[in-house]
Amino acid sequence: MQLPANLNVYAAAALFVIGAYLVAIYIGLVVWTFRDIRSRTRDVLGQILAVLLVAVFTLPGVLIYVLLRPKETLAEEYERSLAEEAVLQDLHERRTCPSCQRRIEESFVLCPYCEHRLRDTCVNCGELVDLDWIVCPHCGHPHEVSEQETHRSKRKTVRATSTEPAEQEHAAELEPVLEQGAEPEES
Ligand SMILES: [Zn+2]
Ligand SMILES: [Zn+2]
Repeated sequence: MQLPANLNVYAAAALFVIGAYLVAIYIGLVVWTFRDIRSRTRDVLGQILAVLLVAVFTLPGVLIYVLLRPKETLAEEYERSLAEEAVLQDLHERRTCPSCQRRIEESFVLCPYCEHRLRDTCVNCGELVDLDWIVCPHCGHPHEVSEQETHRSKRKTVRATSTEPAEQEHAAELEPVLEQGAEPEES
């Protein structure tokens, strides 16, 4: 006699739990879709449509959304564009001689076409070192600008460790230029 009444209570409780569970899943799906679409597109109309799709069609809506959503998130897209940019820049900077613009290999020290100095070798460990690095990244040995480099690039400042004769030589190179510049005023 009492069993049916108890069963009703249990059934009601079970229905309530299942109902609450379904509502929680439903809300979770909508919130997940909202977050997911926001990470993939800035288009507000697209965001609204995606959320409506899931809100109206629930699980099948989620399936359709997953099939149709943009493949990449905005963060992934940004990372990819950065990587592509870095590759392009590397190709541009490393793989052509800055002097004659011809193709060169990564491991080249001198340009084989115009003898332009591309990289140095560390005097301590022998690894390749970029010309504008001040220490060798492989062994920590201070990297000094080579003689050829000081002759070629006028921008490079003479380091404090360099010998005095070298500085005098440098000054001697500049003097004739100044004299030549002054001559036209006399004539
Ligand atoms: Zn070259
Ligand atoms: Zn080194």
